[in-house]
Amino acid sequence: MLIGAHVSPAGGPANAVERGVERGCRSIQIFNQSPRQWKPTVYDDEKVAAYHEAFAASDVDALLIHAVYLLNFASEDKAILEKSLASLTASLRAGAALGAVGVVLHPGSALKESEGCALHLEDTAGAGGTLGRTFEELTTMIEGAGGGKRLGACLDSCHLLASGYDIRTPEGLSDVVDEFDRIVGIDRLGSLHVNDSMTKLGSNVDRHANLGAGELGRKGIGAFLSEPRFEGLPCVFEGPGASGKAVDRADIDNAFKLRKQGLKARGG
Ligand SMILES: [Zn+2]
Ligand SMILES: [Zn+2]
Repeated sequence: MLIGAHVSPAGGPANAVERGVERGCRSIQIFNQSPRQWKPTVYDDEKVAAYHEAFAASDVDALLIHAVYLLNFASEDKAILEKSLASLTASLRAGAALGAVGVVLHPGSALKESEGCALHLEDTAGAGGTLGRTFEELTTMIEGAGGGKRLGACLDSCHLLASGYDIRTPEGLSDVVDEFDRIVGIDRLGSLHVNDSMTKLGSNVDRHANLGAGELGRKGIGAFLSEPRFEGLPCVFEGPGASGKAVDRADIDNAFKLRKQGLKARGG
């Protein structure tokens, strides 16, 4: 499993690789534009080349780009719809230029099929009737968007628990992954977010906790990080982070430790 962190790309995406290396990451996730602003960032050739050079020289093996939260494809407002499309297109282009595993999107409604870079629809906690809180809804959206090969899913451990999937034990998680496979198809699973949850099973409230310090606990996070069908996928901790500011090296070290404990608990 490619454990990693959400990091800042300030100064260019090569710096994001550097921040990943500093934290001992095997994967990184970035916003390719300011998360609360519309203006898309376009990386020039120099920045892209610097990124590829840094990436090749590092132990980071996967990049995810998180689309900004403003995107709303269910909006009735044409201007918002147009800005959403322009922003997502820019993210997909950046993803293609940087060789990202995928662009992760909190789903709104039907989308056009992506080009050049995979698009991973993330499961949600289900607050306020948001789409994507069940595997049935994820598959409906993937099929509604054309069902192409580049459309996939990103599963977030915190959102799974908050939306009512009991993944607190290896057995519980295994059943949930079986269900995902039956409804969406395991081949669609492109990326993972590992976050603990401050809120209880089925709360429909999305509040991330540090790994092992929430309702999933050390056992639940260990199970998630050692699930055999998740092997090889990028798995990013998004925060808050033990320092209270950002995800640090200590958080990633903790993630690797919890994975080890998870593997041991499975008899591995
Ligand atoms: Zn997430
Ligand atoms: Zn979340």
